Amino acid sequence: MNPHTLSMRLERVAAHVPANARLADIGSDHAYLPVALMRRGAIAHAVAGEVALTPFTAAQRTVNENNLASLITVRLANGLMAIEPEDRITAITLCGMGGETIRDILEQGKVRLGGEERLILQPNGGEQPLRQWLMDNDYRILDEELLRENRFDYEIIIAARSGRVMYSAQELYFGPLLMKVRSPAFLAKWQRVLSRKRKTLASLMGARHAVAQAKLQDTARQVRWINDLLA
Ligand code: SAM
Repeated sequence: MNPHTLSMRLERVAAHVPANARLADIGSDHAYLPVALMRRGAIAHAVAGEVALTPFTAAQRTVNENNLASLITVRLANGLMAIEPEDRITAITLCGMGGETIRDILEQGKVRLGGEERLILQPNGGEQPLRQWLMDNDYRILDEELLRENRFDYEIIIAARSGRVMYSAQELYFGPLLMKVRSPAFLAKWQRVLSRKRKTLASLMGARHAVAQAKLQDTARQVRWINDLLA
């Protein structure tokens, strides 16, 4: 992957970034996403935020090699602390991190959110707690996508603040829009998850320890939900 050829995952994320956005890509690593979007003339300005020094340096290198330093600001900062009011950010991408990490970044950086930004989130697992945060913070899920690349299933969640919104426990688990559309990729993912969960359930059967008991109950509930979904 490089700023000329993005992975399919980042290409699909890129497709959800509104035209002419002022983008903050948090956890940007090599800054491939903002650099690719800027090279295509798809965005107006970008901030690439990184918390770790090595990827921060890599991001600076990519931006400089593409002569984009006047249009993309690279900042060494924790989460949304990379965003300054004068950036007038209109879209935020948080990709390639666990859903819980993305949730924590959003929660800890709430003060940096103006409320008008489009959120484009690509969690690696942990989608349920991330959707829970979106609901608890009045973000409506506008779009969802599921794709498979290199034997991994990736979900992309697009959200915007909208006022009170309610999702059921199953909608938070499967994705309210994904479970409506029921694409072949979505059904295939949940078939795979079901067979994994059934194995976990079998290994937990007969567990006596309270922690294992709780896990068994939780796994049994998930298996029920997935069976219902696929029925
Ligand atoms: N976003 C790119 C992508 O999707 O290909 C890079 C993903 S990489 C696996 C995750 C990056 O997030 C790492 O470079 C890591 O340093 C960065 N990161 C993790 N926690 C962060 C935080 N709190 N603030 C900023 N960056 C963070």
